[in-house]
Amino acid sequence: MIIDIESIRKHIEDNYFEFGANKTQEVLRLVFEISKREQISYNDIFDAAPKNGKEGSHRFMHLKQYLLERRFPGFSKEERSKHGLFKELSIDPENKALIKKNERIIPKQFFIEESVLETALVDRLRKKFKNAKFNNISTYKDFVKNREFCLKDFNNRLDEFYIVRENYDFFLECPCSNDSVPCGYNTMNLGIGCGFDCTYCFLQGYINSPGILIQANIEDYFARFKKIGKDIRVGTGQFTDSLVFDHITEYSPLIVEFFRNYPKSTFEFKTKSDNVDLLIALTPPENIQVSWTLNPQTIIDNVEFGTNSLEERLRAAVRCVEAGYKVGFHFDPIIVYDRWQENYNFVVNRLFDLIDEKRIGWISLGVLRMTAKLKQVIENRFPRTNILDGEFLIGYDEKLRYSERQRNNIYSTMKQFIRERSKSVDLYLCMEDEGICSVCDINTKDMQRL
Ligand code: SF4
Repeated sequence: MIIDIESIRKHIEDNYFEFGANKTQEVLRLVFEISKREQISYNDIFDAAPKNGKEGSHRFMHLKQYLLERRFPGFSKEERSKHGLFKELSIDPENKALIKKNERIIPKQFFIEESVLETALVDRLRKKFKNAKFNNISTYKDFVKNREFCLKDFNNRLDEFYIVRENYDFFLECPCSNDSVPCGYNTMNLGIGCGFDCTYCFLQGYINSPGILIQANIEDYFARFKKIGKDIRVGTGQFTDSLVFDHITEYSPLIVEFFRNYPKSTFEFKTKSDNVDLLIALTPPENIQVSWTLNPQTIIDNVEFGTNSLEERLRAAVRCVEAGYKVGFHFDPIIVYDRWQENYNFVVNRLFDLIDEKRIGWISLGVLRMTAKLKQVIENRFPRTNILDGEFLIGYDEKLRYSERQRNNIYSTMKQFIRERSKSVDLYLCMEDEGICSVCDINTKDMQRL
């Protein structure tokens, strides 16, 4: 159902002419979201609104109260006051995501920074992608400084691969939200940008680049790691999927070989792909873990575009276990919909049917969350998605997420599903505060010891 935003706006202006710009925007957004969530016309919503209240703020308060109750039927009055809804509503059809098929990405064009021309990565790329165009540039920063990007350009990001030198941000502590319980994770910043199109991906809201960035100086990361001087839990899946470009970079064997020498640190590849051919050709040490984000197939089909199916992910995990790897699983983000409990229970059971719990390093849980800005990006790129139809409120970290009550229920339910199959697998919550961890009795802090 296409919702005509301008018609709703006109209806408000014609019928509630005393509303100023802010009130119009509040009502517009509420009516738009109710119309989308309930799949009914805006006229039906206004027709059902209480008619009490004269013109002025009194009338506005009555209308707003009615719309809030209808938009957030599951919230208490107090929760409704934290809905954080009133960001501008503006959807440009030009921004819509162009969904690509799930197939291995073959780069068409590389832009190589001068300082990495002689690296092993560039040498490999030239030999491997003979049909691609190679362009030399002085620096990435200089090359793109006069280019302007807008959201619709995000669709073209796979047309340009930038091979760059990293000078500063080799390892970063996990950017857990303010006040969330830290899990002791570190990210190795090798690659910025992803080939998949997950509707909820935070990269859509952050990346200000015309293409994919791949850092060529991996040996400098290894040198920096040696200087850290302590054992850490570290992985690459923060600003990209760890394996989506592995057939291009061929970085996974280098990483496995390097971390083989640091058995008390743990390295994690985190992916939604089945791109494990290079990994399974190795004999891995115990401190390397390959992890998959899991969701029910209906979420994969409608939300995680371009990624591998649930069965393909689990089959890739089986191949990794057979090759000797530890594996991990991330139920993150968990998304609530009509049959979420039944469907997530199916995924948990399928996982434990296929994978021996002794080979599972950890399982994490996290719920759908987003900044208000990311929500606007999602509305533009995925106007038909229903993941925004849930009831969210502004959390302790200024992100929109399900209410505390609902999150407690989600985590307790998931924990029960998992504990029915394994009493001992390590479980932690991603980006949750102390209160939720303790109510659900999931000790996220324990992850710092790993
Ligand atoms: S796999 Fe991860 S990085 Fe890639 S689009 Fe999905 S959420 Fe974003």
